[in-house]
This record gives sequence, structure tokens and C-alpha cells, in this order.
Amino acid sequence: MAAAQVIRNRGISPALNLNLSEVGLVSDIKENACRDGLVGARVTLPSQESAKQELPIARLGISRQIKDSDGRECQAVFPIPSMKQERQTAIAAVRAAAKLCETVRQQRSQPLTKQDASPVTVADFGAQAIVCQALAANFSDDPVIGEEDSTMLQQSDRQEEFNRVVALVRDILPQATPDEILHWIDCGNGKIASRYWTLDPIDGTKGFIRGDQYAIALALVEAGKLQLGILGCPALPLDPREPDGPKGILFLAVRGEGTQILSLTDNTTTLAKVNSTGEPQKLGLITSVEARHSDRSKQHALAKAIGMTRPFLQMDSQAKYAAVARGEADIYTRIPPPDRPNKRENIWDHAAGAIVLEEAGGRVTDLDGKPLDFSLGAKLTANRGIVASNGTIHDRILQFTREN
Ligand code: AMP
Ligand code: MG
Repeated sequence: MAAAQVIRNRGISPALNLNLSEVGLVSDIKENACRDGLVGARVTLPSQESAKQELPIARLGISRQIKDSDGRECQAVFPIPSMKQERQTAIAAVRAAAKLCETVRQQRSQPLTKQDASPVTVADFGAQAIVCQALAANFSDDPVIGEEDSTMLQQSDRQEEFNRVVALVRDILPQATPDEILHWIDCGNGKIASRYWTLDPIDGTKGFIRGDQYAIALALVEAGKLQLGILGCPALPLDPREPDGPKGILFLAVRGEGTQILSLTDNTTTLAKVNSTGEPQKLGLITSVEARHSDRSKQHALAKAIGMTRPFLQMDSQAKYAAVARGEADIYTRIPPPDRPNKRENIWDHAAGAIVLEEAGGRVTDLDGKPLDFSLGAKLTANRGIVASNGTIHDRILQFTREN
């Protein structure tokens, strides 16, 4: 039994006891109905009994019309289920995928080339199979929009690579058949729905091949909004001040609950928190290693306009969002280069990183200050570029990006 707060005329009557199993999915919320029913409401979630507070709509819970104990129609708010199964499944899947990727890195195998000329490795396919298998086993109704598909692996001249993918997946799932593995990879071909997962099995494949940073990036989207994100960063040092120290971190963010940093090698857990400085000399900008991925000269102009003096940090993949989330840097921008001004970003390149940073106290928008819209398809078609920051300096960055 779980308590539901009943809201009537913007007041709250004593809690009713109702069975949580009656409650619909979070994605069933009608955004407007929810907002109308909850304007000004003060709600106590069970986990926060002692700290009554106004919570953002997204965290309030599921709003439903019910009859109260006197038989009167009223609006009730049920606590959002804690996403226990989602977080457990996501952590286990990303940990397993990280292990697979590190195995491949030690073998130093040759990458393949996709039709768009970008590189892909057996680890990209293996990691997508592992994560999609776990999602299909636990959330069979949820589509997954992933970066890879199995077309290339099914070509007759790719038998050797396919055999390697099968062997890698079987290290983790010994009973897996080749057909099942192809099927799991193609589970990543899902279509956007009111609730879906998005996956980049290896974000920063160029960094992965070079021996630098990369990330396994998985996020859950409900009603177009990020609700959970996980970034597995096997090559990221636990302590950024000790770059040669122990490596391997997983960042886990759940909407309204902060961002946890979990070690990939032991059970240590800490909370990620941005560095909230706005002082120009203290601010750090982090950018891609690959110069073509963003307009570097505009980034230098931005740094100059703010009065920043620190040299840029360079890092592959969404590990950049994690670096801002734990205070290692303060600004990450993705500005389309002049030869591709209308370039739109892939959802899987930003979903997990964005919620990891937001829940650590940072802010993420596009270059015009608009929130990222994850409801439109595989690309962020409504958003131009990305501005991610420690929050404090965000409006100053937008002032520059709107004008330039
Ligand atoms: P980075 O954050 O620079 O390490 O880049 C990783 C992501 O950049 C990849 O996941 C790709 O989707 C994306 N990417 C690949 N090529 C380009 C390009 N020419 N311009 C912008 N982004 C790219
Ligand atoms: Mg990527």
C-alpha cells in the first residue's frame, strides 16, 4: 500500500491509502492535466516525509482522477515508482558492456568503416547486443533507439568479425545463439514512443580506437523528457587529479534524485556535483579531441568574450558531460562548424550525458537556450548545437551563442 495525496481546490486533504498497482505508467501522464491538477500543490513523497517541499511537476508523481472516501471526485497524486528495476537493469547491462569493450581494447583489433565513413568495432556491436538483451528481458514493451544495426555484420565478407562478436557476447551470456545476437543488436532499431531507451554502445569510437576516452551511454526518456541516464566510462580516472590512478567509473542519474558516481571496479559510490564558479579565470572549457566535431574557433571566441584564461581540456565522448558534472570542467559546447551550419545531433550522443549533468546541478540547452527535445526522432531536429555548463555561467554563454 502506498500513500496518495489528494489535491482539491489547491489544498491537500488527508492522505488516502491506495494500492500502487492501480497506478498507470509515468508515460501515461497527460502533461496539461497534470499541470492543471497540481498548480501550487505541496506534496510529500514517501522518501521525503520530513522535508515537505514544492517539487517540479516531473517529480510529483502520477496525477489521476479518483473518488475520495466521501465519494467526491478529486485529483490524486501517486508517488512515481522509484525506477528500481530500471536502474538495476541499466547498471548491470552497462557494467557488462564495459567489460566486453575493455576486452576488445586489450586485443587491439582493426576497426571497420561504416557507410558514413565513421569507424565501428566488434565492441560496438557486442555492447549493443548485451544492453539490448537486458532491456528486452526486463522491459519487453520499451523500444530502444540505438546507434548500430546488424546489416554490416551479416555481409558475407564479415563472417570473421561476426564470429568475434558472438564469442564476446558468449563470454557474458554463454547460451546466446548467433541468431539471438543479431536479433538483440537489431532491437536497437526501435521507434520513438512515449517511453523509450536510447543507446550509444560506444560513444566516441574514435577515442576507443585511439586508446583514449569513450562511454557506454544509455538513457530512458518518458514523454519526451529524460528520466534516467547512465554513462559507463571505463577509461576515466576515479580521481581527476590523479590521471594515472585507478580507472573505470559509472555515472547514474535519476530525475530528481541526483547523479551518483559508482566505481566500475569496487562498490564505492559518491555524489557528483558541479563546480558552481562563475569567475572567468577559474572556468574550464572541455571540447572534443576531434577538431571537426565542433567549431573550435567559435569556442575560442566564446572563451575570450567571457575572459577565460585556462587552456581547453580535450576529451572524446559524453565523458565530457561527466567531467562538467564532477567539477573537472565548467563548459561543454557543440557548435556546428561553418560548412555544416544545419547539423543536428543524434539523441544517443546527448541523452545520458545531459541528465547526468543536470542532476549534478548543471544546465543543458541548445545554442538558442531551448531545452533539448527528445520526442521527435533519432535526431534533435528542434535544437541547434548544444550548450552544457555548470549552470552558473550558462546565461553568459547563451548571450554569446545567440549573438554569434
Ligand atoms: P566527440 O564528442 O567529439 O568525442 O564525438 C563523438 C560523437 O561525434 C560521435 O558519437 C558521433 O556521433 C559524432 N560525430 C562523428 N563525426 C562527426 C562530425 N564530423 N561532426 C560532428 N559530430 C560528429
Ligand atoms: Mg556517439
